[in-house]
Amino acid sequence: MTDKWALFIDVAKCHNCRNCYVACKDEHVGNAYPGYAAPQPRHGHDWIAISTRERGEAPMVDVAHLPTMCNQCENAPCVAASTDGAVYRRDDGIVMIDPDKARGKREIVDSCPYGAIWWNDEERLPQKWIFDAHLIDRGWKEPRCVQACPTAAMTSAKLDDAALAARVANEGWEVLHPEFGTRPRVYYRHLYRYVACFVGGTLVAQANGVDDCVAGATVEIRRDGSVVASAKSDDFGEFKVDGLGEGSGTYEMVVRASGYRDARTAVTLGASRYLGVLRLERA
Ligand code: SF4
Ligand code: SF4
Repeated sequence: MTDKWALFIDVAKCHNCRNCYVACKDEHVGNAYPGYAAPQPRHGHDWIAISTRERGEAPMVDVAHLPTMCNQCENAPCVAASTDGAVYRRDDGIVMIDPDKARGKREIVDSCPYGAIWWNDEERLPQKWIFDAHLIDRGWKEPRCVQACPTAAMTSAKLDDAALAARVANEGWEVLHPEFGTRPRVYYRHLYRYVACFVGGTLVAQANGVDDCVAGATVEIRRDGSVVASAKSDDFGEFKVDGLGEGSGTYEMVVRASGYRDARTAVTLGASRYLGVLRLERA
């Protein structure tokens, strides 16, 4: 079985330093790699792009960053749309746009459902991130974006299909838009930090005439009696049940804590919500 490249991005470790973005620019802007890629224009192209998303409402707010690029799809629509080899997939899994054969073929830009292909007006070329194939072929062990990432949010590996499947299953990696059916080779972890929403709040109870935090309570989000997601309250009584679907409707929230009566309330999810201070009654 042939080993093929894959990229792994841990959203929880990405701090938006943009080193990966800059490394890609440094590699390609003003530089031609014959047979691999024509120069990237100085402005207007984000072969590696970073999007930022803020969730929640004060005082419970978080921010996540999502690096995106060509997914090096195994079942790539850009390759399928190219009948003359202008876009092709190498044996090592890297998808390439031939800088000579693709010249003038603007339609290639539209073949990517991820919007990962950019049009270079000056060169009259569709272009995208090529996993630094020109460096890999000279013996590099990782693309420059991976080398430049200070938090190891972005890593790469060359694996056979069985090893990749095992890693994906064991470590909980997933892909963007699996419904496209393109079988990307760029994998994400903690993606819920960007694509899902949370319900949060602060649990308090009366103790000696004053409000005190309730730590260690279990907060369950249920639908039709089944627990969909849960979390524990921390030492400040704060809880955040994450990974819920945006706009996914109404759930029952059940708070259980030793020495207190169970508290139940209905929660309707549009985007992430902070429910405020919730009081528990002593049992
Ligand atoms: S992400 Fe787009 S450009 Fe990259 S391989 Fe998939 S379809 Fe092609
Ligand atoms: S270099 Fe790493 S931490 Fe910085 S933006 Fe890119 S993926 Fe995120």
